[in-house]
Amino acid sequence: MKDNFDLIIIGGGILGTSLSYFLSSLNKSKKIGVIEQEHSVAQHTSSRNTGKVHAPYLYNPEKKKLFAKTAFHGYDMWEQYCKLKNIPFKKDGVIEVAINQKDVKVLEKYHEWGKQNGLKDNDIELMNKEELKKIEPEIKCESALYVHKDASTDYSLCTNAIMQDSKNNNTKFLVNTRVTKIKKSENGWILTLNKKDEIHTKFLINAAGGESINIAHELDTAKNLTDVHFRGEYWKVPKEYNNLTKKSVYSVPEFTEYPFLDPHWIMKVDGSCEIGPNAVPVFSPYGYSKSENIKELIPKTLEMLRSGARKTIFDKQFQKLVMTEIQSSMSKSTMVNRVKKFLPIIDEKKITQKGTAGIRSSVIDQDGKFIPDVILLQGDMSFHILNYNSPGATGALPFSAHVINQLHKTGLFENENMKAQCGPWKFNEIIEKLDG
Ligand SMILES: Cc1cc2nc3c(=O)[nH]c(=O)nc-3n(C[C@H](O)[C@H](O)[C@H](O)COP(=O)(O)OP(=O)(O)OC[C@H]3O[C@@H](n4cnc5c(N)ncnc54)[C@H](O)[C@@H]3O)c2cc1C
Repeated sequence: MKDNFDLIIIGGGILGTSLSYFLSSLNKSKKIGVIEQEHSVAQHTSSRNTGKVHAPYLYNPEKKKLFAKTAFHGYDMWEQYCKLKNIPFKKDGVIEVAINQKDVKVLEKYHEWGKQNGLKDNDIELMNKEELKKIEPEIKCESALYVHKDASTDYSLCTNAIMQDSKNNNTKFLVNTRVTKIKKSENGWILTLNKKDEIHTKFLINAAGGESINIAHELDTAKNLTDVHFRGEYWKVPKEYNNLTKKSVYSVPEFTEYPFLDPHWIMKVDGSCEIGPNAVPVFSPYGYSKSENIKELIPKTLEMLRSGARKTIFDKQFQKLVMTEIQSSMSKSTMVNRVKKFLPIIDEKKITQKGTAGIRSSVIDQDGKFIPDVILLQGDMSFHILNYNSPGATGALPFSAHVINQLHKTGLFENENMKAQCGPWKFNEIIEKLDG
């Protein structure tokens, strides 16, 4: 296969697909491609998640600025898009609970963050336990943050619909195709696909999710960073529990300095309920099974020991977190008990079926610290997106618009028409909202 592209995106998750949609809307005469190793888009994190369209109350407006901003705008964009495409989008809200006095202060901080990130008074309200009890009699807590502006959807359906729109703009989706080697050429890159075919591209965007750091390293970028993979596991609960609460319930995490939350009580868009996710360290971005983890155990351990992750591994607080997470992977009752703290009525014996696990890859710096926000790195004729974690699905549309605007402004990849109509939106208007 000999093919020349103006721009190639590695990764057909919700991010790579959204990027391709906007780029192909703005550049009618450029040849754009998405390379995905699986048989279709959204086979990894983009379908293996909680399915929440998050209101930005959990994100520190300074440390997670971009995630907060794109989640805020992403909510409205997904609402509009789902309506247009007949994809379920349920404004079902979420309740964040404090289960002890110490966490009450954290809820107050989340309330503040929510406001700073653009939520209005009627989107989010603090409640004491008596007020909440009247609405949600089964929930046990000290106080609660009632978030009206939070929703549920199916991100796999969203990604597939975006892919279809992108294909209609002539984006070429190369599926069942893995990028196995990347080589610099005179005017761009030569990509080896499935170890045999070659294609040429002038510009490259790395949106490869859990493998994006490996691709950045291959292109001599982000050498001071590494990543650690965490599997988030879920348990499905029986139908009789579907009406236990009116909303999903999250609790203030025990370890607030790490980028994961404690398991929640989740109401899915189809009305079913689940418990999860935890965050169990695994050795691969595809470490769903024992065999995949065993295969990657030695190379990943060696990589971590040679990088900043070494400091993380020997950090006492991190070890404590890891032990809690491993226990809740090995024992169903440990996992269920983490939710029973605020929903005591659930009976572990009635919960027998596992849900679909998803893996997040969190980036660590040379000092062993988790980096809170997404990392955008400019390379030679290339751009890398690392650490694109939760609420990445919520923010995927405005985040993609932001990246494309950055590439345009810096002259890295210039677009033909910044005022193009992209489905229900005009591109320049998305940017104006993000900048406003
Ligand atoms: C447990 C869990 C729960 C979450 N819950 C939520 C939530 O409720 N709401 C929310 O907004 N966000 C949530 N998130 C975060 C969200 O799911 C992610 O931020 C988002 O899906 C990331 O999308 P992506 O496209 O970057 O990655 P991915 O979906 O992982 O896509 C990357 C793609 O790149 C492909 N790829 C990698 N390397 C190559 C290669 N060499 N060649 C070809 N293809 C390659 C992979 O096959 C993959 O399909 C959750 C995440 C997890 C782990």
